[in-house]
Amino acid sequence: PVVTRIAPSPTGTMHIGTARTALFNWLFARRHSGRFLLRVEDTDRERSTPEATQTILAGLEWLGLDHDGDVVSQFDNAPRHAEVAHAMLASGHAYRCFSSQSEIEAFREAARAEGRSTLFQSPWRDVPEADHPDAPSVIRLKAPREGQTVIADAVQGNVTFRNDQLDDMVLLRSDGTPTYMLAVVVDDHDMGVTHVIRGDDHLNNAARQAQIFDGMGWAQPVWAHIPLIHGADGKKLSKRHGATGVEEYAEMGFPAQALRNYLARLGWSHGDDEFFTDAQAREWFDLEGIGRAPARLDLKKLENLSGQHISAMADADVVAATLEWNDRVGGAPLDAERLARAVPVVKDACRTLPQVVERAAFVLRDRPVTPDDNAAKSLDSVSRGILHELTPHLRNASWTRDVLETVVGDLARAKDLGLGKLAAPLRAALAGRTATPSVFDMMLVLGREETLARLEDAAA
Ligand code: GLU
Repeated sequence: PVVTRIAPSPTGTMHIGTARTALFNWLFARRHSGRFLLRVEDTDRERSTPEATQTILAGLEWLGLDHDGDVVSQFDNAPRHAEVAHAMLASGHAYRCFSSQSEIEAFREAARAEGRSTLFQSPWRDVPEADHPDAPSVIRLKAPREGQTVIADAVQGNVTFRNDQLDDMVLLRSDGTPTYMLAVVVDDHDMGVTHVIRGDDHLNNAARQAQIFDGMGWAQPVWAHIPLIHGADGKKLSKRHGATGVEEYAEMGFPAQALRNYLARLGWSHGDDEFFTDAQAREWFDLEGIGRAPARLDLKKLENLSGQHISAMADADVVAATLEWNDRVGGAPLDAERLARAVPVVKDACRTLPQVVERAAFVLRDRPVTPDDNAAKSLDSVSRGILHELTPHLRNASWTRDVLETVVGDLARAKDLGLGKLAAPLRAALAGRTATPSVFDMMLVLGREETLARLEDAAA
């Protein structure tokens, strides 16, 4: 069975790249009815905070990427990591090294002077235990010195590393704490991870991690190193490109499923499909579809997809997502019942959730409607006169789209006005703005009494 994982370091926000890596791992696990695990790499005690772990959990939850089992803390596994280091010592795949920092420096300097590789070669590699001093030591991997380490990567293809360019890395420090390389390998093995899908900034680590897997006689996972996300200028994504944290995208008002769709497409493709549902993504996702070129973040594309999702979402889901967004950004409370009346007529024109609120303003706000500057222009005395004339016709009309269209159309004809000319003051009277849902949609949502009251306010 497939087991994937996301292994974030809890040291800040949840980066959009981490979110994409999580999504790929989640999709792959779900596609294969496998498990998607979460491990926080919290061994850096200075930089890791519980708040950052909470941020990651909240980010995953908002994105709908449910993980299986408990959250694993890498720090908690330190005794197990040490145990493995000692097992490698016992099996001859690792050795104790007593070289001090200054001895290592001296080695490097001499190597530099003689034009040799400055990779440290410990004099303790083959010293039998009987000859060990009673002094502090680190445990180093006895890495192969000849040949190559090949990472058969599902995205990058075969990536070859010369073993004479990989030193005998430290597995356990002299204070008994494990190094990052050892911790990752032991945890991935113990968690039964079958596929390591992560950013290609970890490709070099894979070579070293593979050596540890081999040293323990453990099967390597399938490696899949995905190109990082770049900004529109082709440079690695950073703060100066704008938002990098998942929560910032949530605050901008993109529904989670839209961000999922967008992130899935960022570096992965399924033919020409741009818009897809979660069910389709779970059915289609594969490692073959991951490209080798860095993906570029494109906000316009995200907005586009987001608009398609909002329009495709069930009305009740748009309402729920909008209320959630409003809470998140600390907006004034919204009337859920009024919002629900507006959503069917506004959602098709909205690309983000704040646009839903903006477009639904005609029903969310109470009378009197104060027209903005643009809308006010269409409320001159002639238009106000026409609105005034319209009200008695509406008072007696039955409140259906057909009848409303006929009533307004008849008046426009009688006044020799285009429907557009009449629509502008109607929009101004009903919504106080120029960009609104259709006049008839607004009348139907507002109902007869409210519509008449607003027309009379404006005509007065
Ligand atoms: N903790 C690493 C990171 O946040 C991930 C390590 C891994 O996926 O193996 O970049």
